[in-house]
Amino acid sequence: MSAPGSPAGSGPAGDGPAGKAAAGSGPAGGEPARAAYDPWAAILGRIDDAAALAGISADVHRMLRVPERVLEVAVPVRMDDGRVEVFTGWRVHHDTTRGPAKGGVRFHPGLNAPEVSALAADMTLKTAVVGIPFGGGKGGVRCDPSSLSSGELERLTRRYTFEVASMLGPDRDVPAPDVNTDERVMAWILDTIDMLHGGRSMPGVVTGKPLSVGGMRLHAGATASGVLRCVRAVFSELGIPLAGSRAVLQGFGKVGAPLAFLMSSGGMRLVAVGDAGGAVESAGGIDVGLLADHVRRAGTVAGFSGAHPLDPADLWSVPAEVAVPAALEGALDAPQALSLQAKVVVEAANGPTTPAGDSVLADRGVTVVPDILANAGGVTASYFEWAQGRQGYPWGEDLVASRLAGNMEEAFGGVWAKAASLGVSMRRAAGALALERVAEAMEVRGLFP
Ligand code: GLU
Repeated sequence: MSAPGSPAGSGPAGDGPAGKAAAGSGPAGGEPARAAYDPWAAILGRIDDAAALAGISADVHRMLRVPERVLEVAVPVRMDDGRVEVFTGWRVHHDTTRGPAKGGVRFHPGLNAPEVSALAADMTLKTAVVGIPFGGGKGGVRCDPSSLSSGELERLTRRYTFEVASMLGPDRDVPAPDVNTDERVMAWILDTIDMLHGGRSMPGVVTGKPLSVGGMRLHAGATASGVLRCVRAVFSELGIPLAGSRAVLQGFGKVGAPLAFLMSSGGMRLVAVGDAGGAVESAGGIDVGLLADHVRRAGTVAGFSGAHPLDPADLWSVPAEVAVPAALEGALDAPQALSLQAKVVVEAANGPTTPAGDSVLADRGVTVVPDILANAGGVTASYFEWAQGRQGYPWGEDLVASRLAGNMEEAFGGVWAKAASLGVSMRRAAGALALERVAEAMEVRGLFP
């Protein structure tokens, strides 16, 4: 695949997005793409559809089919045994018309260049859907953090940050936690950037950081609370009572675990949970506190004695009112979508449904609350944290909670209304709404020079 007006391919992988400004220090995209699922093709399909639906100009559409800049870096790290291991890292700005690039830093052994670009484009749409003044960015390092010591992880984070530092800054690009990164990693990024600027304090350079360096108490649970708000909103539109309803959840990590607690305290029953290690089910509902204790000890939901073992392939066919993918991209492909019992999907992960999965869900009349809306609570909280850092004035927790709730409700209402007026799915409506906003900003700014 190649974008119109851009060089075909981007290096040896040949199927990744070519950057508008190739800033890569090595061969861009120089690694095998994941065979089964092409996230860049998936997001391009969504951008094309949204562009047609929103009727945006061909020029704007063409610009959005290519990331603004893609930086690929080598990240050499001195390992504890004295050897130097060389990792590959990326930072991508997909579009910064509406504000600084915003998006997480992901550490994952399967990470690749097209995936980072796709996730950056997701962020462009997400920030526009919830109406916060950011563009879309993403980054990460291909590594398995579970095999690294804390010292190795810190050295990797600091060297990665140094390598992509020219792209970062409170007015340029603001990273946040994503898969396998947390507030500790954010603190190292913050400190590295501050040191690079002669020790100048820049709390707005990163979000999801520890409280002691300007973090925000509700940040960690914000994605989960936004997801629950979407579950409530879509249930209320569809006339499904929340109390007593059943949920199937894939992923019990940073988003899935707090979400499980929120769902169960909202009166929902968690009937099946899966993660990379396996799956468990209990028709009567899983005790989330006990499951969390088990996961802390075992590192996976598999083997939890308070529920029955379940073949992960059967997760989606467990009867439930709602299914929530809260792990990685590509989890709901056509076979999973065919087996799905729930009538509602709320996408807590980024890009969990493949295009083939999506058309099966549409044919089967499943209501999907798309990722760029459903998981936008996290980046909305990031916006609040960034704003407080720039003001040098922390907001009270109540204010954060009420603004987060208000923003998510307004965004849900906007997408729901757009879907109704266009007669399309929420995913297509959210894409169209997002592109209208980005296109409007592009049109008023004009094209430089
Ligand atoms: N990683 C989160 C996401 O994918 C948060 C990004 C951010 O706050 O910048 O939405």
